[in-house]
Amino acid sequence: MCNEQLLNKLLTRRYLDRIGMWNMKTPQKIKMFIWKATHNILLEEETNEHALLLCDWTKTVWFGSQIQCTPNKQNVKLIRVWLQEMLRKCNQGNKSEAIQNWSKIDIILWAIWKARNEKVYQNLEPNPESTINYDRVLELNYLNLAKESNNEIKE
Ligand SMILES: [Zn+2]
Repeated sequence: MCNEQLLNKLLTRRYLDRIGMWNMKTPQKIKMFIWKATHNILLEEETNEHALLLCDWTKTVWFGSQIQCTPNKQNVKLIRVWLQEMLRKCNQGNKSEAIQNWSKIDIILWAIWKARNEKVYQNLEPNPESTINYDRVLELNYLNLAKESNNEIKE
């Protein structure tokens, strides 16, 4: 691993630890992506807030997802602040539910990011429905993997 990768990994870990998100059941690459998204280093021409939360098609994805949150101009100023508010809400439930829900939010962000990149690099119009489907597949994969690894530890 080169120095820059190592530094990114440390910064990601420290930041996610601090805001209480290190326990997310998602792969390293998604954690790293969340860190970048909350530090405004993903995009140049548009804000992360618009690309991931406020663009019309992404709002449809958020609303159609199991999380059913509705980002809008009033409740989203900075993605970092919005995420922390979501974390606070998730934390009102029990711990394992909270971790699942944070993970789901991260996976939706990731699915939106992937669809947005297809638009930019392959000129494919983002489709909310297929993004939601992709999100569900990822959720099933990651959350099942996480369950399996938890069971292994218990046994
Ligand atoms: Zn837009």
